[in-house]
Amino acid sequence: MSKPASNVLDFYSPTEGGRFVSIGKILLMQVLKQRKFFKRNLHVRQQTPNLAVYGEYGIYPLEGRLQGNVIKFLHRLENMSSDFPAKWIYNDLYSLHKCGFKTWVTKALEVFCEIEGPIPSTFEKFRSLDSRKVKNNLKKTLSDKYRSYWLSSINDQDLNPKLRSYNMFKTEFCFEPYLNLTNPKLRTAISRFRVSSHHLAVETGRHAKPKVPLEERLCNTCLTVEDEMHHLIDCKKFNALRETLFAQATKYIKDFNALQPSEKFKQILQSKVIAVQSSIGNFLVQASSSQ
Ligand SMILES: [Zn+2]
Repeated sequence: MSKPASNVLDFYSPTEGGRFVSIGKILLMQVLKQRKFFKRNLHVRQQTPNLAVYGEYGIYPLEGRLQGNVIKFLHRLENMSSDFPAKWIYNDLYSLHKCGFKTWVTKALEVFCEIEGPIPSTFEKFRSLDSRKVKNNLKKTLSDKYRSYWLSSINDQDLNPKLRSYNMFKTEFCFEPYLNLTNPKLRTAISRFRVSSHHLAVETGRHAKPKVPLEERLCNTCLTVEDEMHHLIDCKKFNALRETLFAQATKYIKDFNALQPSEKFKQILQSKVIAVQSSIGNFLVQASSSQ
């Protein structure tokens, strides 16, 4: 599932100059709109990696749902009575596909193979399933595939260097409880911090021209790399502010004070306790206004 969107959109735009091309464009617009909508809700930059945005909400991208719809429609056509014109068209397209022409069916079967596996071994079984089973199987297969794609991608440092801190604490594809905080200031501060949509040196150095090497993106007080972990756990500038955050963490995280800094960072950000999340938000807001 390396490029979830391509097959679906190709599927809807199989011919040059055909009317399906415009449908493909409309779908692409919907996918882009969905991403924009989530980023606006999180109040993060539009350049924020989509993987992090989907990860924060634990919501699957629209592309997967479109792939699912392709398979469900294929199943419906396979089991449709010959009395319907749609079945006649499907049969014609199937025959052309068998003769080596690239048709709607060719693309639909490519999507099928990507999701369900090779056609010879699975297609007969697929035909005989009832539609509810197809729907349930699809839901599970698509979500499993996306989760596994998501996890390997956020851990791919070459592909997603911006997520180098994110993958330290985000290990589960699920809705993050801090998004339920009622104070929008706290919620936004946490979102921006988690997905690296902030102004710490690790990020500003990445966007500087020329780009500043990672080891030179330093905190001006501590003279060490100013990344998310440094800011939240180590930076001397915020020792006093951090006392409240660590006091909350100590209440809810076992042996918190004995943990290594990287483990403190991970466990604080992974905490599902709303009081801990609220303290993170307060820390970030106050740290930002004190700079
Ligand atoms: Zn510092």
